[in-house]
Amino acid sequence: MIATATIQSAIAPLDLPAVLRYLAGQFPGKTVFSTSFGIEDQVLIHHIFENQPDIRVFTLDTGRIFPETYAVMNSTRTRYKKQVETFFPLHESVEKMLSEKGPSSFYESMENRKECCGIRKVEPLGRALQGAACWITGLRREQSDNRKEMPMVEWDEKFGVYKVHPLLEWSSEDIKAEIAKYNIPYNTLHDKGYVSIGCQPCTRAIRPGEDFRAGRWWWENNDKKECGLHA
Ligand code: SF4
Repeated sequence: MIATATIQSAIAPLDLPAVLRYLAGQFPGKTVFSTSFGIEDQVLIHHIFENQPDIRVFTLDTGRIFPETYAVMNSTRTRYKKQVETFFPLHESVEKMLSEKGPSSFYESMENRKECCGIRKVEPLGRALQGAACWITGLRREQSDNRKEMPMVEWDEKFGVYKVHPLLEWSSEDIKAEIAKYNIPYNTLHDKGYVSIGCQPCTRAIRPGEDFRAGRWWWENNDKKECGLHA
């Protein structure tokens, strides 16, 4: 097993295409990228689809995502002519939750919210990561307090994979510049004050000066805003 520090030292001096090439070579056939079609993920998807066909790309369709997110899924498929493997929640679990608690239980308590995220996101993620050794994400350091101390390479105990965040040190301006440079399709909600885009009922636009994660689960405490994908 390679030490996370070894991977980190290898990729630290590299640019993004070289980082992706290194990971695809280090974990052949076992490097995966999870996209929610947010603007950071679009930067990664561009470089993967253009240059690294060996990296498997998947998304979690929770069943509650925005029409604008489906639109960028479609424009991405059209632009790159590639498939994005899509994982959906188990229908038995969703049916049970909806039958017992209704469609908006996540507003009632953090326990209910975590149950919904568990069913709609975490369980499908476990299936998506089966057989993977390296999981690439689009997380950035400035996105939340939880991510301030995060290393670029982690060992994810829960899923048994290396977790790599190649955009960790990128700023919002860096991301926008890359999108403009390559004319990469992106979610139009980003132009309407949405910075972190997840499920429709749990995401809102933020006002100038508000925290990056203020638009997610805004009825909960600020320091607990993770959905279980990035514990
Ligand atoms: Fe459910 Fe909201 Fe979590 Fe989506 S973000 S899985 S709707 S609680």
